Amino acid sequence: VTRTGAKSSRARIRRSPKKARYDRGSIHRVLDRGPIAHVAFCDQGQTYCIPMLYGRVGDRVYIHGSRASRLVRVLAAGAPACLTVTHLDGIVLARSAFEHSANYDSVVLLGRFTAADAEERPAALEAFTEAVLPGRFAEVRPPNKKELRATQVLRMDIEEASVKTRTGPPDDDDSVDAEIDVWAGVVPVLTVYGSPQPSPGLREGVPLSASLLRIAEGRQ
Ligand SMILES: Cc1cc2nc3c(=O)[nH]c(=O)nc-3n(C[C@H](O)[C@H](O)[C@H](O)COP(=O)(O)OP(=O)(O)OC[C@H]3O[C@@H](n4cnc5c(N)ncnc54)[C@H](O)[C@@H]3O)c2cc1C
Repeated sequence: VTRTGAKSSRARIRRSPKKARYDRGSIHRVLDRGPIAHVAFCDQGQTYCIPMLYGRVGDRVYIHGSRASRLVRVLAAGAPACLTVTHLDGIVLARSAFEHSANYDSVVLLGRFTAADAEERPAALEAFTEAVLPGRFAEVRPPNKKELRATQVLRMDIEEASVKTRTGPPDDDDSVDAEIDVWAGVVPVLTVYGSPQPSPGLREGVPLSASLLRIAEGRQ
């Protein structure tokens, strides 16, 4: 049985608790927006917060890196960790400077990483590639034994987690500031893909694969 943030005091959101969610569906939803997480940990009294790719499989989040990496060594040894994913969905423009805000969708996981078991590594490695571009893993060469040996895959069980989401207009529509004639509202922030730029070494005539065509056509 896993705990969620609702039952954990240190994962409970204090400010604007109405924006908080602790249910598994909400946690998975934000994690699945991927692909970048910031992973925080402490090493010899110094806190670090490192950006990296991640993937979710079921109730676990996976990260991977070189076995030689400091981050991988410290986390594999069981250091307390915090993994945060943030998406900026809009800028919120109010009449007053004070009410300016952002629409966002974020999740914070607390816990510890452990080395993934041999049998879960293939699905985790697939999840990293799929987080970069859905459908890509089936199109490319899978990891070979040498690559698997060099890569450490770590997992964190989703046990203490919280989601915080802001949506909607600025909060001053119902205040005296609504009398002020300055434009107020939301400007959505979107992530868009540019045109694919072929690798200099790409062989002549290799077409875009299905996963790329999907984003090129805006069907993602
Ligand atoms: C979008 C993105 C995705 C990434 N995905 C992965 C991944 O999946 N796996 C992975 O292992 N690495 C990934 N990286 C690289 C990652 O951020 C780290 O650089 C790397 O994991 C750190 O390796 P290390 O522990 O050997 O470095 P350390 O020895 O811990 O780094 C030494 C110091 O370098 C500085 N530093 C390290 N990384 C960064 C950084 N990204 N930006 C600025 N300063 C930094 C910090 O001060 C750090 O204390 C990704 C980076 C980005 C931006």
